[in-house]
Amino acid sequence: MSAPEKDVLFPRIALIGAGLIGASLAHVVRRDGLAQHITVNARTQGTLDKVVELGLADATSLDAAEAVTDADLIVLCTPLGAYADIAKTIKPGLKPGAIVTDVGSCKATMFTDVAPQLPDGVHMVPGHPVAGTEHSGPEAGFAELFQDRWCILTPGPDTDSGAVDKVAELWRRGGMNIEIMDAAHHDQVLALTSHLPHLIAYTIVGTATDLEDELKKEVFKYSASGFRDFTRIAASDPVMWRDIFLKNKDAVLDVLGRFTEDLTALQRAIRKGDGSTLEERFTKTRAIRRGVLDAKQD
Ligand code: NAP
Repeated sequence: MSAPEKDVLFPRIALIGAGLIGASLAHVVRRDGLAQHITVNARTQGTLDKVVELGLADATSLDAAEAVTDADLIVLCTPLGAYADIAKTIKPGLKPGAIVTDVGSCKATMFTDVAPQLPDGVHMVPGHPVAGTEHSGPEAGFAELFQDRWCILTPGPDTDSGAVDKVAELWRRGGMNIEIMDAAHHDQVLALTSHLPHLIAYTIVGTATDLEDELKKEVFKYSASGFRDFTRIAASDPVMWRDIFLKNKDAVLDVLGRFTEDLTALQRAIRKGDGSTLEERFTKTRAIRRGVLDAKQD
């Protein structure tokens, strides 16, 4: 069924990868008629069959070069570690004037792994919809995922502004607020707001897993006291998170260093019975929680 022409932002969209984020974007595109034709590429036929069953594609292909042929917009929706190979594969299929964007959680990767492969006349607009759940795969996708969240775009200084506007409009139609920033700055900010919290969750849940059996049972039994929230975060896709830490190495190591110093200071306060340091720190962090609620990012 073709979309009314007035709503169409891109005649043909190609999605490379259709898990939680790719499928959610496809739902938005379908719901609002933002494209006349969607082609989806993934690694496995099972994923493509599921995408067709969900009504999210007009065509599917296991060949990424074939999937991008004639596409006006190409959206990379795979783990970051796949970008370099995908860029090499799609290079011959990209038409002049096409826009290549992505949804990855680290933005430097588009400049290091994708940009060198793009032919002249193809625009690159890196993007990160800051929205997600711990679920993966096409069935996990839903159109409302992006509503009232931020989408950060990190174009290079010479990127065509028309291309940036079109990608911004795509995410705006999905309900997102748009922020434009430098890729390195994005990676620093997200290292603290997203990557470090995931690393902490993986560590805490890992520590619990290594406990002796009797204690482990108790941890699960009383998990509502805080541990449960960490288990949700630590259930996130292992491959995706492996790639985020490998690709955003420097920024993550920087915030991890700061975090370790702060943790050591609290450790010392506990050992010394220094209640005022603990109370002062917890009072400050309580105010941060209010800020998050005020920004409607709960
Ligand atoms: P996902 O649910 O695990 O889906 C990944 C998709 O990529 C699958 O369709 C998979 O295909 C495909 N894929 C993997 N390697 C591929 C390759 N070499 N070539 C073609 N397709 C390939 O992942 P996701 O949660 O949507 O995350 C995708 C991207 O979004 C990541 O870069 C992540 O950093 C970013 N992101 C994630 C979240 C989040 O909360 N999940 C939030 C914001 C941004 P098969 O199923 O066939 O293997």
